[in-house]
This record gives sequence, C-alpha cells and structure tokens, in this order.
Amino acid sequence: NENLILQSEKLKLVGELAAGVAHEIRNPMTVISGYVQMMNENPDSPYYEYTKLIQSETERIELILSEFLVLSRPQPNQFIPVNLGEALNEVATFFQYELQQKAISLNISNEYPHTIILGNKNQIKQVFINLFKNAIEAIPENGTITLEVCVGEDGKDIYINIIDTGCGIPSHLTERIFEPFYTTKTKGTGLGMMIVNKIVQDHKGTIKIKSQQNVGTEVLLSFPVFSEY
Ligand code: ADP
Ligand code: MG
Repeated sequence: NENLILQSEKLKLVGELAAGVAHEIRNPMTVISGYVQMMNENPDSPYYEYTKLIQSETERIELILSEFLVLSRPQPNQFIPVNLGEALNEVATFFQYELQQKAISLNISNEYPHTIILGNKNQIKQVFINLFKNAIEAIPENGTITLEVCVGEDGKDIYINIIDTGCGIPSHLTERIFEPFYTTKTKGTGLGMMIVNKIVQDHKGTIKIKSQQNVGTEVLLSFPVFSEY
C-alpha cells in the first residue's frame, strides 16, 4: 500500500529530524549546565535559588534529548553480544537523582542471570531510558519501580519487566501509547514508546503492556537469548 509506505517514510524522516535537532542542541546544553553548576556552588549567593532552578530545568532538557539521541547516530547494522542486565543497571544509575527527588524506591529483585542477547547496546539502553523515564513520570511522588530480569525455563528467551506504581493507563488507550506524538503530558513528546517499539522489533523482541489505572503499569519485554553454541 503506497499510502502506508509514504506514512512510514514520513515517520522515519520526522524521527531523523528530531534526532538531528536533539544532537545539535546537546552541545550548547552541556556548556550551559557546566556554568550553571559552577554558579551553583555558593549557597550564599543571592541567585542560588535561580541557579538551582536553571540546573534542574537543564537536566530535564538533557533527559528529553536523550530520548532521541540513539537515532541520530549512524547505525551499523552489526549486532554484537550485549548484556541486558548490565545495560539496565547502567540506565538505573543514570536516573538516581530523579528517583531521589521524587522519593521513588528502586526495587531490583533479581541477581542477573546469563542475559546476553545479540544487539546494539546504545539502542538497548535507549529502550530502558525511555521506559524508565515513563515509569518515573507516572509517579507523582512516593512509589516503587521494580526491575525483574530472568531467563525463560527453556533458556530461549530473556524476560525483562519494568513495573511502576504510577498512574496507570486506561485499558482502551494501551495500544495508542505506541503512536507517534500520542502524549498525555503537557511537556511530552509522544515519541518515546514509538522508539521503544521500533528498537524492540529490530531486536526480534516483544513488548506487552499490563496496566491498571491508579495502580500501576507493567512493561513486559522479551528478547531471544544469544548462545554461542
Ligand atoms: P511521552 O512520555 O513523551 O508522553 P511516550 O511515547 O513515552 O511519550 O508515552 C506515550 C504516553 O503513554 C504517555 O504520555 C502516557 O500517557 C503513556 N504511558 C507510557 N508509559 C506509561 C507508564 N509507565 N505509566 C503511565 N502511562 C504511561
Ligand atoms: Mg516518554
């Protein structure tokens, strides 16, 4: 269908454009946040409160930009062994500050078993960044985010669950969250879940959403295990 092809070409273009812009904005942002951090070192300064505000807002911009960055890099279509548990841990560390600010406790329920897949580590981290961000944004304050990692009984698939005690998604909207530009947030982009979906598909994975309004959301991912034998 010609129309569908046109649609997906358009989407690709929009994605690339957003990614390119994000990439260009990131460098000046780094300079700004560097200087603000310096100005912020003196709590007696009359501008202390302002610089704190500037700092938290620049951090927010950087987080938003990080949603697109992976798409802006040239993607060598070469997949290498990636440790999913390790990538998930790295991303969790990245969000420590936000978790603390909102009094969200992070529950890492498992020691990581053998969780190697064939993939692109930057893209995999992008998936976790986007999902983690949504989980944090779903919790106004005080809540829990649980990360579960396990290997299926037959040893063929790795399962990763990201569970939050946030606002949840009404059941008639769980499909729509993958649509580009679908957002319920005043400062949202509506691109995060579309990017997640694309990367998961590219890795031959699956994604399922289980959600209940005012209870929370479970994002269930699976990826085929990589074994050398
Ligand atoms: P954005 O986060 O910029 O709004 P996304 O594509 O990441 O865009 O998400 C689209 C929408 O899906 C969100 O606006 C929100 O309504 C819903 N959503 C996604 N993840 C969650 C979650 N963990 N809890 C509640 N709602 C979610
Ligand atoms: Mg998002």
